[in-house]
Amino acid sequence: MSDELRVKFWGVRGSYPTPGAETVKYGGNTACVEIRAGERTIILDAGTGIIPLGRELAQRRAFEVLLLFSHLHHDHTQGFPFFLPAYLPTARLHVFGPGGTPETLSRVLEHNQSSETFPVSLRDMASSKDIRSVRESQVILWDEAGIRVTESAAGAGNEAVVIRIHKSYAHPGGVYVYRLTWRGKSVVYATDTEGYVGTDRRLVQFAKDADLLIHDAQYSEEHYWGQLAGFPSTQGYGHSTVTMACEVAAASESRQLVLFHHDPAYTDAQVAGMESAAQAHFSAAQAAYEGMELALSRASSAPAAPLSARERDVKYAHHD
Ligand SMILES: [Zn+2]
Ligand SMILES: [Zn+2]
Repeated sequence: MSDELRVKFWGVRGSYPTPGAETVKYGGNTACVEIRAGERTIILDAGTGIIPLGRELAQRRAFEVLLLFSHLHHDHTQGFPFFLPAYLPTARLHVFGPGGTPETLSRVLEHNQSSETFPVSLRDMASSKDIRSVRESQVILWDEAGIRVTESAAGAGNEAVVIRIHKSYAHPGGVYVYRLTWRGKSVVYATDTEGYVGTDRRLVQFAKDADLLIHDAQYSEEHYWGQLAGFPSTQGYGHSTVTMACEVAAASESRQLVLFHHDPAYTDAQVAGMESAAQAHFSAAQAAYEGMELALSRASSAPAAPLSARERDVKYAHHD
């Protein structure tokens, strides 16, 4: 069993999938991040990135999976109807997320697969599914006793994966930010959130001393402020600029920042430019790309370099 907390990016794009020659380097699938804590698999969001992940999980025979939704916008749910393990009778899915809308989480997912919009209903997917809306005050634990939702982390074993929830209001309808901790290493997943003037202090507090902060960085400064030709200002849309992401990383003293939820209109060159801009503010920053995998080791406090960096440079060299 690996001692490292592994984080792999399967979908890094915001809003809608973006195939094409201009998005090969960073990738075009929508939000999906996989975290592996030993034998346990936790998935953050079910954008289209969850589709290839599902195929791999089926091969790996990882049949118990915890899937957490940040919120239920399309780009975070649209891969779920194509998530292969959901069709396997041997798979057990624990699906948790916000329930702030009048419909519960399961109702929204059922609605996404109503007979008018999709040929297979949620109920007809053969896996066993525990679908639950969770509250901000609750803690999700995964230890030797299994997965459970509790009111506190008291009594969790040393090997427990502990997941805390922060509800952000800096996105239309609200969004859950998750903080996952295992063996002293922690990852904060803060997608679909807009920064405030002077930073989002509640988020900074929640992300304090994270080993890895995954933060929305959808827009360039020019775009956000309405100075990018052909694009209106996006202030109030519920997404951050690179500067806002860096401010949260610095103020929370996170060890490492990954820019996430790239704008679908941006080319690889634009995202690369944003990555450079971020590094000028916060040196341990990088833009997420599809296939990027980071290993957070208990023994090291240095920022983790992508495991697949060399492979990616070879693969995409002709596009740079
Ligand atoms: Zn989104
Ligand atoms: Zn959203």
